[in-house]
Amino acid sequence: SRLSIADPIRTNDIMRKYKLRAKKSLGQNFLTNEKVLDDIVDASGLQADEIAIEIGPGIGALTEKLAQVAEKVYAFEIDDTLIPILKDTLSYYDNIEVFNEDILKVDLDQFVIDHHLEGKTIKVVANLPYYITTPIMLNLIKSDYPFQTLVLMMQKEVAERVTAKPGHREYGSLTIAVQTRMTARIDRIVGAKSFIPRPKVDSAVAVLDRIPADKNDIDDPQYFHKLIRSSFAHKRKSLMNNLLNWLGRTDDNREKIKSVFEKCDIAENARGEQVSIEQFKKLAVELKKEI
Ligand code: SAM
Repeated sequence: SRLSIADPIRTNDIMRKYKLRAKKSLGQNFLTNEKVLDDIVDASGLQADEIAIEIGPGIGALTEKLAQVAEKVYAFEIDDTLIPILKDTLSYYDNIEVFNEDILKVDLDQFVIDHHLEGKTIKVVANLPYYITTPIMLNLIKSDYPFQTLVLMMQKEVAERVTAKPGHREYGSLTIAVQTRMTARIDRIVGAKSFIPRPKVDSAVAVLDRIPADKNDIDDPQYFHKLIRSSFAHKRKSLMNNLLNWLGRTDDNREKIKSVFEKCDIAENARGEQVSIEQFKKLAVELKKEI
């Protein structure tokens, strides 16, 4: 029987056969822990009639696991030296397509149309290149095509910010950008030993599930975005001070903000990190009315 690609023996064989050296600049750390891979696939809940999109297949360790459960796997890999290797390691599977592309330059909405995937449940599952975690994640979240579930391995510190609750140090603009559209939780922590080569940081698998559109009720997203950016511009300053920096430091504005805070049940000396997303939504509506 074949060894999984993720088996350390097989991974080392593949690397030796192709004289492959992991490129740090592309965030290449190959997973060699099958339990972790199985947990990632379980967390995605992928079904036989669903589509998986993978970002950065590497030598195919996660790709083959996805192909074993999904109808079809589309994988985007920027490193052209990996393309012939993937052709070899994944030759057993007929439901995988690999594209030699930079995921940040792919128009995924257009991709969905071109591949007739509208109406399909599409889940994105990836062991991300950590240097571009945030732009990749935000693109997926903001995409017009509502990717249902994102299971993304990332640096542990970033996962903690993405999944933070109000009142915690990690809670900030990234938390809110994600949690206005997705529920977010950490499925598991992954130590450096699970990779070849070992990264310098711990990792975590974050699971993001799309919040239904009708529950995602921000009426002026641009204004909301500006409010959030301003609220966390100086993390150690009070929310009041951050808002005065944004709106203009006048006595009139101070009084107006005070009364809006009262309506939203926000303490006068609160900091942004203590304010829930629901409160920020209300704050946006009331502030826009007042100022
Ligand atoms: N999926 C493999 C695994 O779990 O073993 C490899 C994961 S490795 C952390 C990240 C992968 O993303 C590498 O294969 C790297 O070449 C690829 N990558 C880096 N930047 C990329 C980009 N902009 N677009 C697509 N893939 C990228």
